[in-house]
Amino acid sequence: MSYEKSLPEVSTLTKPFWDYCKKHELRMQYCTRCDSWIWYPKAWCPDCGRRDSILWRQLSGRGEIYSFTIIRQVIDNSAAFQADLPFAVGLIELEEGPRMYSNVTGVKPEDLKIGDKVSLYFEDATPEIALPKFRKE
Ligand SMILES: [Zn+2]
Repeated sequence: MSYEKSLPEVSTLTKPFWDYCKKHELRMQYCTRCDSWIWYPKAWCPDCGRRDSILWRQLSGRGEIYSFTIIRQVIDNSAAFQADLPFAVGLIELEEGPRMYSNVTGVKPEDLKIGDKVSLYFEDATPEIALPKFRKE
């Protein structure tokens, strides 16, 4: 069965991120000079402006809900998204510090709370794209 939801557009900048996702690894850019995470992917470190101090560092995939919203309607009318309603989109604070948005599953959206522990899994949407998502522990 083909994947019916919209997929991310992969750019030169984000290709490494999606390549790691395909291998079920969550990696973000990290500046070794500033000791800081960079998210979303950037061409240079926003703190020191360097390119040569950036590497892709792996994250554990453990985190907690920093904030979230419950999606009750979608405007693109895609039947695939409609079928999921209502669903939760969380701002996940990863245990290493950076925060990212993603779907949160494994709980009824109205039962989700700030501070809930979540862990990463990947949904293999297509042979090229695996989507990082989180489920409540
Ligand atoms: Zn830096």
